[in-house]
Amino acid sequence: MKLISIVVPCYNEEEVLPLFYEEIQKIMKQMREEHSELHFELLFIDDGSKDKTLKILREMALKDERVRYISFSRNFGKESGMFAGLENSRGDYVVVMDADLQHPPAFLPKMYNYVKDGEYDCATTRRVSRAGESKIRSAFARLFYKIMNKISQTEIVDGAQDFRFMTRQMVDAILKMQEYHRFSKGIFSWVGFKTRYIEYENVERAAGATSWSFWGLFRYSLEGIIAFSTAPLMIACITGMISVIVGIILLIVFLIQKATTIGILSAVFFLSGLQMFCTGISGQYLAKAYMEVKHRPIYLMRENEEIYRSRHEEDFS
Ligand code: UDP
Ligand code: MG
Repeated sequence: MKLISIVVPCYNEEEVLPLFYEEIQKIMKQMREEHSELHFELLFIDDGSKDKTLKILREMALKDERVRYISFSRNFGKESGMFAGLENSRGDYVVVMDADLQHPPAFLPKMYNYVKDGEYDCATTRRVSRAGESKIRSAFARLFYKIMNKISQTEIVDGAQDFRFMTRQMVDAILKMQEYHRFSKGIFSWVGFKTRYIEYENVERAAGATSWSFWGLFRYSLEGIIAFSTAPLMIACITGMISVIVGIILLIVFLIQKATTIGILSAVFFLSGLQMFCTGISGQYLAKAYMEVKHRPIYLMRENEEIYRSRHEEDFS
């Protein structure tokens, strides 16, 4: 017997959850017919949703024993959701996918075929189009991948997604990375293992709205750069050095020409500005290190299906 855990982070997904459940059930049935050795668990992560998500999950967990869930004490973000899912999954294989059907469940049989013989450790999709996304957003996304791949040793594939079918071995490797500021696209790539990319056209959300704002994504990209590259620190050092050299040249010019004080003044402003900039960048790293050193938990659970089921039984006995 082989168990497949399907991990689904959910934040305010009341509209799509029933649709998702319906679709995934069809696929699970289909896969069981093709491979009799398979069985499944669905592990939903309620990331502090403010709508009826938790209520829907409770109902599903009562009706369907394959359904498990973890409900967070507040919104911790998708990264924490994925981590909690991986950490609590019990499967020989683990799938991570979005609730909004942008990660089509129909890919699962194909992904399983790549992974089951041990040829690959991970199967994932890669978007070749960004249809349905604003132009500015795609342009920024491209720019991000360009910069990221120039300055970091960890390769991040443009269009790669958090839709993954992984072996237990790879999941355990990911779980060894206990960092607080998580950037999964980098983490998946950093752990290595053999990954098979399946290309596909972008699919739009089945219902509901994306919870990512433009600035949210911008901050997330910065997080990625800072988590997986120390190049910005190098930039700070180099600009610092250049400004020192400029300062020396200006001093020489001043000594020869005895030029006006305005020149000096502007140089002072320019240099102190640069100083601040550099301090700012190193401060970023310091801030990250500070957070890591605290060893804060990546997520906090408030309720899961076991707690709910036992509470429910008490109510009825
Ligand atoms: N999500 C989450 N916590 C958050 C934001 C999003 O668990 O704080 C989940 C969300 O429910 C969905 C997935 O992450 O299943 C992707 O989110 P979304 O569709 O909003 O992002 P996009 O597809 O636009 O990148
Ligand atoms: Mg989505």
